[in-house]
This record gives sequence, structure tokens and C-alpha cells, in this order.
Amino acid sequence: MSDDQLAPATLEHARALDAADPLSRFRERFAIPPRPGGDPVRYFCGNSLGLMPRGVPELLAEECEDWARLAVNGHYGARRPWFDYHTRFRDRGARLVGALPSEVCYQSTLTVNLHLLMVSFYRPEGSRRKIIGDTPAFPSDTYALASQIAFHGGDPENDLIQLRPREGEHDLREEDLLRAIDEHGDELALVLVSGVNYYTGQAFDLRTLARAAHDRGACFGVDAAHAAGNLALQLHDDDVDFAAWCSYKYGNAGPGAIAGSFVHERHGRRPELPRFAGWWGNDPATRFQMNEVQRFEPAEGADGWQLSNPPILSMAPLDASLAIFDEATMPALRERSVRLTGYLQERLDRLGDRVEVITPRDPERRGAQLSIRVKGDTRAVRDQLEEAGCVCDFRPPDVIRVAPTPLYNTFEDIHELTRVLGGEGAA
Ligand SMILES: *Cc1c(COP(=O)(O)O)cnc(C)c1O
Repeated sequence: MSDDQLAPATLEHARALDAADPLSRFRERFAIPPRPGGDPVRYFCGNSLGLMPRGVPELLAEECEDWARLAVNGHYGARRPWFDYHTRFRDRGARLVGALPSEVCYQSTLTVNLHLLMVSFYRPEGSRRKIIGDTPAFPSDTYALASQIAFHGGDPENDLIQLRPREGEHDLREEDLLRAIDEHGDELALVLVSGVNYYTGQAFDLRTLARAAHDRGACFGVDAAHAAGNLALQLHDDDVDFAAWCSYKYGNAGPGAIAGSFVHERHGRRPELPRFAGWWGNDPATRFQMNEVQRFEPAEGADGWQLSNPPILSMAPLDASLAIFDEATMPALRERSVRLTGYLQERLDRLGDRVEVITPRDPERRGAQLSIRVKGDTRAVRDQLEEAGCVCDFRPPDVIRVAPTPLYNTFEDIHELTRVLGGEGAA
């Protein structure tokens, strides 16, 4: 396509795109930090820490009021009763990640949930001990995987296979993952990949990978930290065995927010599956029989992996956030996201060799984020972006991760960002 066939790269055009989009209205539901002059920043770090839904303080205040007013009677008498508060997220969480309500449970944090799920789904036996994963790997995931292997008496050096992109390439080829799954098939216990890679922004075809892992007798898990609230996931239909995700990135539920986990229906009906148990994972019908036999009877579904009673003050922001996702709906957000990120890509393309995008070009193989390699003086670019009020994430030496999130970023945000990256300076 020649330049003159492209839409004009003007502020007016960006504003017209914003005005024409019905989902633009969700932006006002979020607190956007101000810059020194008072104007809101242009926030591109929703992949790192999402913005606060404006409804959060009121929900938190209500829980505090109910605590003050009712104390122990709040378990059943609070406006949102505490004893089964986690079930508020069942249906909405299921819609977020493409699951059945019984397959989703919110508790704890991402790394903890990964460990709890690997207790059940990484079961090395005989010569079947290896784990295959993608790279660049998030450090916490590597620590979790390596320590699980060591916990079972294995050697992480040998049993953890973290596949790298080919020399000179930025993204891991799916064919390379499939070949490794095939090659290591008889020794493979688990394949655990990112739904969206945190660094490159690459997304995988989960259904194809799940089938390949299952064909070779291995479990298939997904770290959906950068995929939940970003892609229109279909964890159930893709036949993923288990998944975990945090809620503070695209989930907008606040720093260290309560995380989600997914356990496929077919495993949720296997009470014999080994797991680390706690009272809230017990069948609610017998949970409180404290003086009786005390034999753990797991609740059906993902709830059977729950340990403790729900932390209400941490969960309230998630309630506010998931209500917004439900109103906007994930398919509609994803559709807007593809347009926003496509616009970013197109604007970056016009900058020639000033930048190089290391995220796949195919919208099916990425989410909102583009990882941009900046040529020349990275420090200067960083300063210019900051001066223009653009909040981006720099990864040394030269990569900027930019995530236009469909709930609150605008085409205008992207117009401004790319203008600065093009060397035009702050407006
Ligand atoms: C953000 C992120 C984490 C963070 O883990 P926490 O347990 O929430 O601190 C782990 N893994 C990946 C891939 C992430 O993107």
C-alpha cells in the first residue's frame, strides 16, 4: 500500500476514530493519573499495572462499613456476603477467559496458583519428567518451574526445556515448539506456555499446542498473565488442562490483586487428583463439620483447589473491574484492541528505520502490546516520551513495551506517542 492510500496521520483523524467508537465511553470509568500540568498522562502500561476503576473506593468503603457494622455477622449479612464472596467471580471470570463457571476460581496470586496447580498437573513419573516452556520467560515462572522439578527430585538443568527464538529472530516459531514436543514426547510431563509472552507480545495457538501435548501424553498449562483481559481466550474449547493469571495487568484490579485459576472440567471431577488442600477447597456442605472425621472432600471444579476463606478487602477491586469487563464484553474489547494496535503498527511503519517492532505482525499472534526496538539514542527517546506525558515500559537495552488497552487508551494517545517516536517532540 502506498502512503497516499493510507488514512491521514493527523490528530483530527485520530480524534475522529475515537469519536466514532462506542467503546470509547469506558475510558471515563478509570482514574487516569495527571501529569504536572493537570492533563491526563497517555498511559501505555496497562500490561504492567492497569488503571483503577473509579468504582473501587466506594466498594472498598462499603466492605469496611459492613465490617464495622456487622463484624462476624458480615459473613452472611454483608451487602455482598463474605462466606461465598469468591463465587461472585465465577461467571464473570468464566466469560473473561472462555471457560465454564465451574472451571474458574479466584484466589491468592499468580505464582502461588501456578504452584498449586502444578502440584496436581506436574506429576513426573519414571522417565516422564520434562517441562517445555517458551522464552523469554518471566523470572517468576522459571523459578516456579525449576523449583517444582527440584521438589520432585529432578534436575532443572536437564528437565526444564525453555525454547528460544531462532538466531536472528525475535519470536519463537510455533513449529519449533511442536517439534520439541514431538521429540521429547516420551519424556514430557508438562508443556507450560505464556498465553501472550510478556516481553515480545507473541501469542500462541493454544488449541494446536494443547493437542500436540496431549497426543504425546503430557499436560498442557497456560500462564495467562498477559492474555487474560487482553485476548478473547477460549481455555475450555482449546482443551487447556490448567491456567493461571494475575488480575493487576489488563485486569485492572489493583497492585497485587487476587489472581484467577482455571482447571478444565474433566479434572474438576477427579477428587482423587493429588493437591494441596485447605478448608475452602472442601465441599461447602461438609466444610464446617470441624469436630467430625475431617476427611478432605474436594469441591467439584476449580473451587476444589481453593485453600482459604476469601480476602474481601483485596477482592473488592476485582468486583468493580470484572463488572466493567462484563459490560464491555471481551469479544468487543478484543475487536477494538485489534484496531487500536493495528493503528499503532501502521503509524510505526511510517517511521521507517527509527524503530523495529519485534512483536508478530499477524493480529492473531499477538494481543494489545507491541514491543518496539528503538534505534539510536534510547535515553533521549525515553526523555522525550516522558516529557510528552507518555507512560511506557522500557526494557534495557532498547525495547519499549507499549500496550494500548481497549478499555481506556485512545487513538489520540497513539497518535501522540508515534509523533514523539518520530522525533517531533512534545506538542
Ligand atoms: C506478571 C507476571 C508474573 C507475576 O507473578 P505474581 O505472582 O503475580 O507476582 C508472573 N509470570 C508472568 C508471565 C507475568 O507476566
